[in-house]
Amino acid sequence: MKLKLDSIFATNVNTDYDIIVAGAGIAGMIAASSASIYSKQNLKILVVDRNPQTLAGKKTINGWVCGDAVGKNSVDYMTQRIGITWNKPEIEHPVKGVVAYSPDHETPIYFDGDGYILNRRLLPQKQLKDAEKVGVEFKWNIALRSVYAEGGFVKGVIGTDLTDNSVFKKTAKLVIDCAGVTSVLRQNLPIRSYIQRMINRDDLEATGRYIYEFENADDDKTYFDPDYALIHLDQVIAPGGYAWVFPKGKSKVNIGLGVQQKSLELRNRTLGKKEDLKRLIDNYVKINPVIKNPKIADGKADEGNGWGTWQVSVRRQNDCMVANGYMLVGDAAWMPKPLDAGGIGPAIIAATIAGKDVVEAIEANDTSERGLWRYNVDFVHDYGYKTAGLEVFRRFLQTLTNEQINYGMKHFLSRLDVEKISHGEHPEFGTIDKVSMLIRGALNKKTAEGLKYTADKNKFLVEHYNKYPKTSEEFPAWHNTLMKELNEAFEKFEITPKVYA
Ligand SMILES: Cc1cc2nc3c(=O)[nH]c(=O)nc-3n(C[C@H](O)[C@H](O)[C@H](O)COP(=O)(O)OP(=O)(O)OC[C@H]3O[C@@H](n4cnc5c(N)ncnc54)[C@H](O)[C@@H]3O)c2cc1C
Repeated sequence: MKLKLDSIFATNVNTDYDIIVAGAGIAGMIAASSASIYSKQNLKILVVDRNPQTLAGKKTINGWVCGDAVGKNSVDYMTQRIGITWNKPEIEHPVKGVVAYSPDHETPIYFDGDGYILNRRLLPQKQLKDAEKVGVEFKWNIALRSVYAEGGFVKGVIGTDLTDNSVFKKTAKLVIDCAGVTSVLRQNLPIRSYIQRMINRDDLEATGRYIYEFENADDDKTYFDPDYALIHLDQVIAPGGYAWVFPKGKSKVNIGLGVQQKSLELRNRTLGKKEDLKRLIDNYVKINPVIKNPKIADGKADEGNGWGTWQVSVRRQNDCMVANGYMLVGDAAWMPKPLDAGGIGPAIIAATIAGKDVVEAIEANDTSERGLWRYNVDFVHDYGYKTAGLEVFRRFLQTLTNEQINYGMKHFLSRLDVEKISHGEHPEFGTIDKVSMLIRGALNKKTAEGLKYTADKNKFLVEHYNKYPKTSEEFPAWHNTLMKELNEAFEKFEITPKVYA
C-alpha cells in the first residue's frame, strides 16, 4: 500500500522537466539522448553541467583526464540500440586490441578485439550535437549542490548559477545523476535508499596521464605499438595498479598510470622512497626507449588537456542504483571495470539502458524506486553480473609480487582465460589443476591457490548476480549474502611489505 501511494506522489505534480540529467559527461550525454530517442522526443529533458558549453565533458580543472581507450563492442552496443555513431575526429585512432606485459616484459598477453582511442575533448561536442538534434536542452555554468527532495522523493536539483551566483533550482519527475565519481548528489542524497553514498578509499585509484607528441627513437613494440594499447603490470612502477601506453597516432601517445594510494604508501615505505603519482609517471615516461623528446600535445584538439590527474573507482557498481525519483549512471555509480578501470564502456551501456528504462517508468507514471528498479536488473543482466568477481580478482592481484605476476602470466593463463578476460569476464584458470604438480616454489603455489580461489568465488558471485532481486523488497536478503561472500574473500587478501621487498 505504501509503495502505491509513493508512486502516485511521484507523478502527480507539475514539474519544470520530465527528466533532469546532472552532468554532461559521456554518461549524461548518452542517457539524455537515449531517453529522448526512446520516447520519440516526447519528453522535456534538461542536462545541467558546471562547465561552459565550449568545455563540455571536462572532468576537473585538470582537463578531460582519461586513458581515452574504449572497445568497439561498447560503441556498437549504443549504435545498434539508439543509432548514435562516433567517427573521426572524436575517434582519434583505431587499435586492434590490448597487450598486457608482465613486469619482466617476457610474457605479452594479447587481448584481441577492435578498439578506439578517443579524443575526449572533441567527443563531447559531437555528443552535444547528437543530443540537441533529438531535442535535449542544456544549461551550462551550473554547479549543482544537491538534489531537491520532498516527502521521501527526489523532485529536482539545486545549485548555483556560476555566471551571476544566483540560485538554480529546477524540478523534474526524475533526476539522472551522471556527475562522475565524486558526485555530491549521491554523497548528499537526503532520502531513504539502498544506494551506497560513499566509497572505500582503497577502491579508488589515483591516476594521471600525459598526451604527448614525440620522436620515435626506437622500434620496441613492448613500449609503443601504434596498433595496440599497451599495459605494463609492475608493482614498483605502478603499485596496486598498472601503467599504460595508448597510441594516438604513429608519434602521439596517451601515457600514464594508476595506483592504489595505500599500495603506493607501502611501496614508498618499504623501498625508502618518497615518490608521488606525478613522479611515478615522469619516471615511467623516462624509461620508455621509444618516446624521445616528448612534447605536451597543444593543438586545438588537445588544448588544456595535455596533462592531468583524477580518480577512478575499481569496485563493483553501486549495489543499488535507483531511489525514488533518482538514479545513477556512469562513474557516479562506480561503474569502471574493477580490473582495468575502463569506465567508458559500462557508461555507454548503462546510459543507453537508462534511457529506455526511464521512458518506461515515466509512461507508467511511476518514477519511484519500484518503477525504476528495472534499470538495476537490466544493467546487471547486460554488464554488472561480472563486476563483483572482478573486484575480488583485482584485490588478489594487488597482493602479488612482481615475481609472482611474472610466473602467473607465464604459466597459469590458458587461451580460454585470455578470451574470458577479453570479454571482460573472470578467467577460470582451468589449467592450474593440471600443472599443479609442476609448480615451482611456495610463493607460486600460493599464487595458484589464490587464482583458483578467485575463480571459484567468481562462479558463485556470477550466479548470485544472475539472481539479482526483481523487486526492492527482495534486495536486503540478496545483499546480505553478497556482503557475506565478499567480506570472506576480502579478509583473505592483505597487502604486505613483502609485495615490494
Ligand atoms: C586517468 C584516467 C584514465 C582513464 N582511462 C580510461 C580508459 O582508457 N578507458 C576507459 O574506458 N575509462 C577510463 N577511465 C574512466 C573514464 O574516464 C570514466 O569512466 C568516464 O569518463 C566516465 O564518464 P561519466 O560521464 O560517468 O563521468 P565524467 O566524465 O566524470 O563526467 C561528469 C560530468 O559531470 C559534471 N559535474 C560533476 N559534478 C558536477 C556538479 N556538482 N555540478 C554540475 N556538473 C557536475 C562534470 O563537469 C562532468 O562534465 C579513466 C579515468 C581516469 C581518471
